Amino acid sequence: MTERMNRQWRLAARPIGTFKDSDFQWTQEPVPALKEGELLVHNQYLSLDPTNRGWANEVDTYLPAVKLGDVMRGGAIGVVEESRNPSFKAGDHVSGLLGWQEYAITDGTGLGKLPDNPAIPLTAYLGLFGHIGLTAYYGLLDVGQPKAGETLVVTGAAGAVGSLVGQIGKIVGCRVVGIAGSDEKCRWLTEDLGFDAAINYKRENVLEALKRECPNGIDVNFENVGGVILDSVLALINVGARISLCGLISQYNAAERVPGPYNLAMLIVRRARIQGFLVSDYMNRAGEAMTALGRWLMEGKIKYRVDVVEGLEQAPRAVNKLFDGSNQGKLVVKI
Ligand code: NAP
Repeated sequence: MTERMNRQWRLAARPIGTFKDSDFQWTQEPVPALKEGELLVHNQYLSLDPTNRGWANEVDTYLPAVKLGDVMRGGAIGVVEESRNPSFKAGDHVSGLLGWQEYAITDGTGLGKLPDNPAIPLTAYLGLFGHIGLTAYYGLLDVGQPKAGETLVVTGAAGAVGSLVGQIGKIVGCRVVGIAGSDEKCRWLTEDLGFDAAINYKRENVLEALKRECPNGIDVNFENVGGVILDSVLALINVGARISLCGLISQYNAAERVPGPYNLAMLIVRRARIQGFLVSDYMNRAGEAMTALGRWLMEGKIKYRVDVVEGLEQAPRAVNKLFDGSNQGKLVVKI
């Protein structure tokens, strides 16, 4: 019998700036036999996320840094091929941090079993019905606490998280203004997703455009980007505004220390709040979010798109789509 081989991307160097091919090493090794309590997952889709860049740095974040030589960490969905763990059986679909590889052996810690629903494409469990949906739902509703009639500004608005946030904002009854990096993305936000306005930050002065599109000021900001964009938002916040700090993608590739926001004093003047959050803190409340998101999807109130790149060997280049803005929706690799 031919030995089953695993193909993997290992972290070979600490990236400086965006990922380069030389930051990764492509390795192949036989899949070892399972020990008692373990299961073998054949990965099908790999989730590429902005946080991958932070995990590759030397400094620990909310998870330990990936060690040089280790398989690159990444969320994935796969099917159980063999199991010596009573909680999982062959044929189960699972999701978890299974890594940039074709096969993963795990003891099941942190692994979730996916529902058996043929109507839902597997990739949705890495997006709307996965960590992305959960981030948008609780990051907006729990942290941002938007109310009907308020103005919500979403940055990174055409991305996986941002596009859901804006649509949930519309469901709540907000005026929703999105900021994104191309005219095509801005058109998608206003014409397909129902945003009230969209600003192309690469073409317009963001502060001036926000003044035009937010005549009543900004009550809630769902912040994915940081930098100049966050500063422009801060300049226009209302008394009691809430800033839900989800991500700071404009600085994930910075090789130098990044200056902090200049307009932080506006938090004092406007008695406003900025609060960071991690989606992992909401895992135990996933049921509520998934029920609501599923209902809105059925009702046609929520749309999403998935950007599928073919082939595990493409992962190191594909991940940079998140940083040059060429991803069209949730970025995944079909393994
Ligand atoms: P995404 O938005 O689908 O993709 C990233 C997008 O960011 C790109 O398409 C690009 O769109 C934009 N971008 C990249 N570099 C930029 C820059 N320098 N300035 C402005 N925009 C830039 O990715 P996602 O997975 O949905 O993640 C969005 C944000 O949520 C990230 O900050 C991520 O770290 C954060 N996040 C946080 C949590 C949490 O638990 N707190 C969980 C998931 C994600 P443009 O074409 O518009 O530039």
